[in-house]
Amino acid sequence: MNKPHNLDTSELQAIDRKHHLHPFTDSKELNEQGTRVITRADGVYIWDSEGNKLLDGMAGLWCVNVGYGRKELAEVAYEQMLELPYYNSFFQCTTPPAIGLAEILAELAPDHINRVFFTGSGSESNDTVIRMVRRYWDLLGEPQKSVIISRKNAYHGSTMAGASLGGMKFMHEQGGLPIPGIVHIDQPYWYAEGGDQDPEEFGLNVAQQLEATILDMGLDRIGAFIAEPLQGAGGVIIPPDSYWPEIGRICDKYGILLIADEVICGFGRTGKWFGSDYFGIKPDFMPIAKGLSSGYLPIGGVMVSDRVADVLTDKCGEFAHGYTYSGHPAAAAVALKNLQILRDEHIIETVEKDTGPYLQKRWRELENHPLVGEARGVGLVGAIEIVKDKDKREFFPKEGTVGGVCRDACIRNGLVMRAVGDTMIISPPLIITKEQIDELIEKALKSLDETAAAIP
Ligand code: PLP
Repeated sequence: MNKPHNLDTSELQAIDRKHHLHPFTDSKELNEQGTRVITRADGVYIWDSEGNKLLDGMAGLWCVNVGYGRKELAEVAYEQMLELPYYNSFFQCTTPPAIGLAEILAELAPDHINRVFFTGSGSESNDTVIRMVRRYWDLLGEPQKSVIISRKNAYHGSTMAGASLGGMKFMHEQGGLPIPGIVHIDQPYWYAEGGDQDPEEFGLNVAQQLEATILDMGLDRIGAFIAEPLQGAGGVIIPPDSYWPEIGRICDKYGILLIADEVICGFGRTGKWFGSDYFGIKPDFMPIAKGLSSGYLPIGGVMVSDRVADVLTDKCGEFAHGYTYSGHPAAAAVALKNLQILRDEHIIETVEKDTGPYLQKRWRELENHPLVGEARGVGLVGAIEIVKDKDKREFFPKEGTVGGVCRDACIRNGLVMRAVGDTMIISPPLIITKEQIDELIEKALKSLDETAAAIP
C-alpha cells in the first residue's frame, strides 16, 4: 500500500490518473496536465504539493466560511468520534449533536422557520425538497400539484433530481435530464440577457415569467418555485432589486411554495445569516449545506417553515425518506461548533459592516480594466465579466476560452479564482482581512493584464 504523503507530485498524479475519476473534470485535460494536488491549508491560504501558496478566493467550493485550520472543529470531531462516532436518526432515534444543531439552526433562521431535516449534502437537500413539496400537497389532498418551477442556468446539485432542478443545459444533455415535473423559466441575468431593458424593468419581466408559467400550465399542477437567492455556480448573478419582491408577490398570490436554495448564500456569504435575510425573501424551504460545517465534514439539511412542517408532522404518518447520514453525530457536532464560531466571533457582522463593503469597493475598481465589462457582488461574493467590447456588452466569440486563460494566470499568480465561461468569480473565506482583500485584488489585476496580453 502506497503512503501518498511520501510520494512526489508526479508519482501522486500518475496514481490519480490511473485510479481516480474526478467530478466536473475533463479527463483529457487531466491526463495531459495532471491534477493539482492540494496538501495543506491555513486561514485563507492553500498549498499544493509543489509548495506553491495560493490565496483561496473560492473558499474551497464556496464552503470554508470560517477559514482553514480551525483546531476547535478538529477537536470537536475527535471527541464526538470517541464518544459516539455514528448513530442514525431513523425510527425515533437521535443524538445530542443533532438535537443541538437543530436548535441553533432554528434560532438563526427567520422566525417562521423552526425545523430542519438533515442530509449529507446540498444535492440531497434538494432531492429532499422535491419529496417534501410533493408530500405536502398530497397530504392536503392535491397530489397533482407536483410540478416545480426552476430557472435556466440555476445550480441545485448533481444527483438526478438536483441536476434536474438545476438549469444547466450541459448537465441535462448528459443523461436524459430533467426528470419529469420540472420546468425552467429565464434567469435574472441582466448583463448577458437584459438587452436594451433597464435592469429593474428586466428584473420585473423575468419574475413575471413565473406568473405566466403558473397560468399557462394551470395552478392546479404547480407545487413550488425554487431559486438561489443569488445564482452562484451560474456566475454570481445578482438579481435586480425588482426581482425578489415580485417573485414573493406571485408565490403569495397563488399560494405556491417558495424554496430558497441557501447552499451557497447560507451562513454569512452576503453579510447576513441567510441570503433570504439579505434579499427579503420569505421562503417555505431553505436547503442548506456547505457553510453549515464550513466544509470540515459533509452535512446538509432542509430548513422547513411552520406552514409546511405543521402539515408534514400533524397530518403525516411516516415520511418515507432519509439518509444513513442524516444528522450524523460527528458532522452535526462540527456544524454546531462552526455556527457557534460564526456567531461568537461576530464573523458575519464583520462581513456585513467591514470586509464586505471593503471587498465590494475594491472589486468594482476592476471595472477600470479594459477587459472588464462589469464587476458586481454583495458581501463576500463577486463576479467580473470579461468582454470583448465594454460599451456594447459584447462577449468574446468562443465563450470560456478567455476565462480559462485568466483562471490559469490567477493560479500562476497565487490566486484561486473560478471561471464560469468568461465570468470570473470569487467567494473567499469569511475571515479574509482587508490586507488579504488587497492582495486578492492585486493578483486579480495582474492576472487580467496577463490575460489581455495573451489574447491575439
Ligand atoms: N445548491 C447550490 C445553490 C449549490 O451551489 C450547490 C453546490 O455548489 C448545491 C446545491 C449542491 O451541493 P452539493 O455539492 O453539496 O451536493
